[in-house]
Amino acid sequence: MDVEKIRGEFPILGREVNGRPLVYLDNTATSQTPAEVVDEIVRLYENTKANVHRGVHSLSQEATDLQEHTRRRVQEFVNAAEPEEIIFTRGTTEAINLVAASYGSRFRDGDEIILTVMEHHANIVPWQLLRRHADIKIRVVEINERGELDMDQYRSLFNGRTVMAAFCHVSNVLGTVNPVKEMTAIAHSHGVPVLIDGAQASPHLRIDVRDLDCDFYVFSSHKMYGPTGVGVLYGRRSLLEEMPPYQGGGEMIKHVTFAHTTYADLPFKFEAGTPDFIDIAAFSKALDFIGRVGLDNIEAHERELLDYTTAKLEEIEGLKIYGTAPHKSAVISFNVGNIHNYDLGMLLDRLGVAVRTGHHCAQPLMQRLGVPGTVRASFAVYNTREEADAFIAALRRALALLS
Ligand code: PLP
Repeated sequence: MDVEKIRGEFPILGREVNGRPLVYLDNTATSQTPAEVVDEIVRLYENTKANVHRGVHSLSQEATDLQEHTRRRVQEFVNAAEPEEIIFTRGTTEAINLVAASYGSRFRDGDEIILTVMEHHANIVPWQLLRRHADIKIRVVEINERGELDMDQYRSLFNGRTVMAAFCHVSNVLGTVNPVKEMTAIAHSHGVPVLIDGAQASPHLRIDVRDLDCDFYVFSSHKMYGPTGVGVLYGRRSLLEEMPPYQGGGEMIKHVTFAHTTYADLPFKFEAGTPDFIDIAAFSKALDFIGRVGLDNIEAHERELLDYTTAKLEEIEGLKIYGTAPHKSAVISFNVGNIHNYDLGMLLDRLGVAVRTGHHCAQPLMQRLGVPGTVRASFAVYNTREEADAFIAALRRALALLS
């Protein structure tokens, strides 16, 4: 894999921040976008902007074909059985809200949902919102000191009232890769459906929803070198068929009278209104990019950066890394002594290094770790060892200034 050549495909990596070359290590929040995706967005606005599914005219047909092409590309990407099982949303957050609101409309007082302590707020709050109609109980899977889930406790949480298990494939703070196939099998042995939050897995790992046997799998394009405003819900057809619509409006109907409406078939039943069709169409170029580089190459390269940077960080006195599971993705959350994560992040930014600070939308996990927040550095395919060195040097300089 030629990283320099790959870097050349990302115009933003050539810019400076605060007078220094940008070292972008906030890939967990969003990754950068290669020129072929940006060019495609421009090309589509200039050549093919027409609303999808509505018109008989040629432009509308072209726009529709492009959107449906991406649906088939996503279907292949996650190995879903049919394109109808792929629903486009605004992102992971909307996809989870869709499942919680629609599938969750059947939940009743006393029903229990199993989540883990490492969930992003996007996989906590939508389930809590169900309490507007039912007194739902949330049961929480704990972690050990390395940031791995307590699988015995997970098993013990299932009972006759359990109606859903929802957990991340990869933690956005700890980097832990969870044993989601095993977790799904355990849930299914109790007749409980599973939602996997794949926001941090889809840019890095091969995903096979049929092998995982999960019921729902969700992710966002903007973390996968793709455009903003596009997310994916994979859902098992049998469940999607029986679920009520999430939003009402155009595109999702068969026939409307003031007395009664019948709904469109899958996937359109869940895609009310005009979708973000330009960005959806351009998302296929991001999938092409990932396919061309190869997920195995991406994973190996990021693993090398993770090991290299972790070893360098461990040499720094007083530095504590949160999340040390052997099976983790290239995310490093840490604090140094009593220094506030925000101060470190600010100084690193002055030195051209973009990292994330704060609670990373995982406040329950921060409470479990006993910290208000952490500094988080996260890698993508275009990052280099030289950037890891620049990050470590900037961190040492920031620490010298702060001590
Ligand atoms: N779940 C996880 C694990 C995440 O890391 C994120 C974003 O950081 C989300 C959900 C929410 O994704 P989005 O903001 O794209 O909807």
